[in-house]
Amino acid sequence: MSDKSRCSRRGFIRVLSGLSALAAGFSSRCLFATDFVKNRFGERMIESYPPFDDARSKKVMFVAHCILNQNARINTCAYTPAAIPKIPECLLRRNIGIIQMPCPELACLGLGRGGPEQIYDQLSTPGDRRYLRSIARDVVYQAMQYRKQGFRVLGVLGIDGSPSCGVDITYYSGEKPGKGAFIEELTQALADAKLDFPVKGVVDAKPDEAETLIATLDPE
Ligand code: SF4
Repeated sequence: MSDKSRCSRRGFIRVLSGLSALAAGFSSRCLFATDFVKNRFGERMIESYPPFDDARSKKVMFVAHCILNQNARINTCAYTPAAIPKIPECLLRRNIGIIQMPCPELACLGLGRGGPEQIYDQLSTPGDRRYLRSIARDVVYQAMQYRKQGFRVLGVLGIDGSPSCGVDITYYSGEKPGKGAFIEELTQALADAKLDFPVKGVVDAKPDEAETLIATLDPE
């Protein structure tokens, strides 16, 4: 056999094995354009709706970061060594998954940030507001994912009296009625997405009230 015919024979075998691999792919599970959706970055991803038929409760609650980690608090403002125990205990007793939101002040202003007087204004610079909007959008995205898959999103627990996470009471030259900077962005992002779950404030020093509030958000 000449060199030329040997080469063309090898090429033919290669093409044949490529075709059979392609056929094997099609006969098992091949992906079509309709299998993909766009993720929030406009990129293709595969989405499915499994039954989630396992141990999970299918109910979740978003909580301000410092409910689980008082170490993020401003100097002199940690109320307990670690978490505010009664709140996670109550959530876990009720089989509610706890989603800890980032601490906006820690992320924008650092752990050694100054007193609460200037915090609302400091969080209102264009860059910090952009960051607050981005974490608000992330909360909305996660909430929509849970809702879409049939989970119950019971709400958001903020921290009343905080210039960032206050819901009914903020801090601006003393405690005042109103929302903190992050909760302003979050409630706007929830409204834009037409999500209607409750955003409620709790107070560290009143964990019993927080337990009562959680019971109203999660009626048995
Ligand atoms: S109230 Fe908000 S900003 Fe303040 S420490 Fe807690 S999570 Fe951070």
